Amino acid sequence: MTTVVTARRVIDGTGRAPIEDGAVLIDGDRIAAVGRRAEIPVPDGAQLIDCGDQTVLPGFVDAHSHASLIPGLGDQDGQQMEPVNRQLLRAASCLRTDLKSGVTTMRVMGEEHFIDVDLRTAIAAGQIPGPRLLIATRPITARNGHGAALTFSDGEDEIRKHIRENLAMGADLIKLFMTGGVSSTKGTGVAWYSYSPREVEVAVEEAHRSNKPVAVHAHGGPGARICIEAGVDTIEHGKLLEADDLREMRRRGIWLVTNNAVSGHPDGIEKGDGHDPKIMARLAESRRNAPANFKAVLDSGVRWALGTDAMHGLMWWEIATVVGWGASPHDAILAATRWAAEAIGMEREVGSLQPGKLAHLISVEGDPLRDAASLQRIGLILQGGRRRDTLSVE
Ligand SMILES: [Zn+2]
Repeated sequence: MTTVVTARRVIDGTGRAPIEDGAVLIDGDRIAAVGRRAEIPVPDGAQLIDCGDQTVLPGFVDAHSHASLIPGLGDQDGQQMEPVNRQLLRAASCLRTDLKSGVTTMRVMGEEHFIDVDLRTAIAAGQIPGPRLLIATRPITARNGHGAALTFSDGEDEIRKHIRENLAMGADLIKLFMTGGVSSTKGTGVAWYSYSPREVEVAVEEAHRSNKPVAVHAHGGPGARICIEAGVDTIEHGKLLEADDLREMRRRGIWLVTNNAVSGHPDGIEKGDGHDPKIMARLAESRRNAPANFKAVLDSGVRWALGTDAMHGLMWWEIATVVGWGASPHDAILAATRWAAEAIGMEREVGSLQPGKLAHLISVEGDPLRDAASLQRIGLILQGGRRRDTLSVE
């Protein structure tokens, strides 16, 4: 099956200027050619999809999310301790919302009961709609750590064992919780940390020996520094990183995956846990500091990518927010497409519209380089060349 998608402009995700009157030629599930409409041959019998005045761009890559969590429901640890069937059904609904918002690839950053293994399989088999998933399976966290629901990993031996179990079940990456978090009542604050340097080294060694990356939940302070020096692959959140942390991340090529809707959007932690004054105080502080922290990231030259952290359907909001804080609109779109694909090790398959890559593409109304809010007005969604925008709305 050959398809030609045409549109007023195409942002191809390589970083070059948009292609005016652009076209994308798709052969089966892969992109065959991208260019100006006049330059792209239309083979006999090809399906034509004209997006008119809209803008075509790569499908979003959500570099950090969760399948079963909904922050607005509150008590995220408790959500992961609910009966497994309930979690699975909630996850299926969330993943559909993600796909319909233009997210065609997503990294799932920790689920209990290995439900992400089954979700990845069901999506790949076409049984349920959702983004293509990369999965962390069970998070690695200490008994007294943030993100702890059912699985705890204390000491070097248990960390090794649980990582090996995760890998045996098919984990694509290892997720480790190091510091506290905004939504947590455990620990003494977001900079408090759980693991010793040796424990982090063991986790990195175990994952890297199997060629799997380590993504660490860390806001800042000595806990983040320990992880940076242990050679983790991505720092997630990073809201309290100092200039020398950012310098060291840049030197080592460690990515920052940042997300802001979960703390900044009224439907996030505020809706779910805003009744707890301790959490609300952390949220207020996080919101106050977020723009300046992000500016420091931009100034540092650290490579960064965006994720929604389970704020399903709000990738556009993540992009619009960092544009409001000084990122160029084009860079913010790259952080949700090609850079995110690079951060999660998927850049050979997705993240840009280039020959040979999977045909994951979306169209949006208007020009997102002028108005990032237009990214919420999704038209076409193609995933591996297949239409997903025609999915019925629940
Ligand atoms: Zn998360």
